[in-house]
Amino acid sequence: MNTTDHDVLIVGGGPSGLSAGLFTARAGLETLLVTDGDPILRRNAHLENYPGFPAGVSSGLLLEMMEDQAERAGCERREGRVVDLRPLDDGFAAETAAGETLTATAVVAATKNTVDFLENIDGVGIIDRGKSFVETDDRGRTGVPGLYAAGRLAAQPYQAIIVAGHGATVGVTVVEDSDVDLYHDWVVPDRYFTGRGRDLPPGCEEIDDAKRRRREAESLAVMRDYFAEPHPEEPNQHPSVED
Ligand SMILES: Cc1cc2nc3c(=O)[nH]c(=O)nc-3n(C[C@H](O)[C@H](O)[C@H](O)COP(=O)(O)OP(=O)(O)OC[C@H]3O[C@@H](n4cnc5c(N)ncnc54)[C@H](O)[C@@H]3O)c2cc1C
Repeated sequence: MNTTDHDVLIVGGGPSGLSAGLFTARAGLETLLVTDGDPILRRNAHLENYPGFPAGVSSGLLLEMMEDQAERAGCERREGRVVDLRPLDDGFAAETAAGETLTATAVVAATKNTVDFLENIDGVGIIDRGKSFVETDDRGRTGVPGLYAAGRLAAQPYQAIIVAGHGATVGVTVVEDSDVDLYHDWVVPDRYFTGRGRDLPPGCEEIDDAKRRRREAESLAVMRDYFAEPHPEEPNQHPSVED
């Protein structure tokens, strides 16, 4: 019997952690994301290389939209700093700076270059290149079953779209390594599979035209709200820059 509180614990709420949480939550895994402090992307002044935004986008706005999307999918997000991680028989126990213990079957570390909370886990390969990174296979698995690293922490190139994509890869990998049956996380037109005699594959959804139009209308309304006004938050300056 599984005794952990969550299926998945994501540590770090930048683009990689948020994407990982989006995919694990959409697959039905009970996902908790714990994060402390602003993602480094908040230092970006205007994000102009993230596909889908031809004239660029405020990084603060993009992060807000990513947070909302993960939350809509069912990924719970909390503020907190993970200071220690220890193995359990069927997962991991994470301790936060506030003294809380969080348990999960799988853990995704997405903390950029922060590795101190991993020191009590045997078998994690830490790469030291001035900054610390975690060794993984090409799907984000570390040397410890159930423990994954995503984004910059997994030595991915330092661009938001790449770490977000890597977070998604790791999220899907966590799902594939779990008991959940997944073909693809896809929404397709009505009868796309069933209309040719195939069962609807796990993770896929067929929607008819009325449902598609309703969803598109909701999407347009939501996006109008996001883009109605400039994002209120200024980018973060490097802490060493003098006023
Ligand atoms: C000045 C600047 C400008 C940039 N401009 C661009 C750009 O124009 N285009 C582009 O593509 N990329 C840009 N980037 C790079 C982009 O920001 C990164 O690639 C991306 O943010 C990395 O995402 P991540 O999820 O791996 O890490 P992060 O975004 O840093 O997220 C990690 C999160 O984990 C949290 N965390 C750390 N330790 C813990 C812990 N122990 N417990 C809980 N939470 C923890 C951190 O506080 C943070 O919120 C820029 C970066 C900088 C510094």
